[in-house]
Amino acid sequence: MLETSQQAELKELVNTPCNIVLVTHTNPDGDAIGSAMAMYHYLKKKGHRVTPMVSNRFPDFLSWLPDSDQMIIHEQQPKLLKAALLAADLVFCLDFNDLSRTGSIYDLLKVSDKPRILIDHHLDPVVEDFDYVFSTTNTSSTGELVFDFINLMGDATLIDKNIASCLYACIVTDTGSFSFACNNGKTFSVVAELIKQDIDVEHIHRLIYDTFSENRLRLLGHAISERMIVWAEHHTAIIYLNKEDLRHYNYQVGDTEGIVNYPLSMKKINMAVLITEKDKKVRLSFRSKGSFSVNLFARKHFNGGGHRNAAGGNTSLSIEQTISKLKEAVASSSHELNYSES
Ligand code: 5GP
Ligand code: MN
Repeated sequence: MLETSQQAELKELVNTPCNIVLVTHTNPDGDAIGSAMAMYHYLKKKGHRVTPMVSNRFPDFLSWLPDSDQMIIHEQQPKLLKAALLAADLVFCLDFNDLSRTGSIYDLLKVSDKPRILIDHHLDPVVEDFDYVFSTTNTSSTGELVFDFINLMGDATLIDKNIASCLYACIVTDTGSFSFACNNGKTFSVVAELIKQDIDVEHIHRLIYDTFSENRLRLLGHAISERMIVWAEHHTAIIYLNKEDLRHYNYQVGDTEGIVNYPLSMKKINMAVLITEKDKKVRLSFRSKGSFSVNLFARKHFNGGGHRNAAGGNTSLSIEQTISKLKEAVASSSHELNYSES
């Protein structure tokens, strides 16, 4: 967390209008885009010129976030993004713990000499990559930390309906609709403050969760009925989706969000893994219940990381080789996965 002297420096920076870039992680989720857009609205109110950016597209179910069309997407507008980064005086880094998580923006970012401020809730931040680190690991979401940051800057009164909607989207998506990572009163008191800004939480839930295309729902059905493998002896279930599955259901960005959670709804299953075949890589998404750390598991075996109960990783193996490697890794952790949650 920030030392008092750093807090004073940050207040000075935040109170002096300049060019600010906001960067979030590749394959952005609700917390990534929500926290960036909340900071966008806050810093605009403070008089800054603000440019939010990300390496690749975000799911359509986040496009209702106010002004999210201002987000520069590197794969679509590389020149514009580079120019904005060159013109920046300050860079805020949101919802990641390691600069390389910015994907295709990484090469530009690592050579920028502008001060970087991290706001994040992932384990093990690479602190030397940042000039200021506002990071905790027991906070529901980066959105909740943005709420804390705005308060720390003495600007609670600037939180308006736009900022509150963005922050609510962060919290609801990163806690699986208040089912994990919110086992303390604080997250709920933050939500109570957000609701005071007259946000319509029912409507937000519908915008995020009830906007499936028919293809997306059928892909979910296919994933569970045809592509799930249960390794009951290791308390693990996996789902794999190859390129042909995705093509068949006309995959759109965001269509596989949430699929990884379904196997965990089975009794005695403590880890779930979704394996997705991408253009050049295979992506893995890990979820666990209880004590098993998918952060450590993803770091050790699949070049990834994240949180104790939600992490990601990737490999350049084929999908079949990935499943074999995963099975070996799971077998070697079998004793740690053998616990009862009830
Ligand atoms: P998801 O499975 O939803 O993509 O990611 C779950 C969590 O793990 C998110 O908090 C995400 O930021 C983090 N995460 C996903 N992929 C990676 C990765 O490759 N490396 C690291 N360090 N974290 C990841
Ligand atoms: Mn997050």
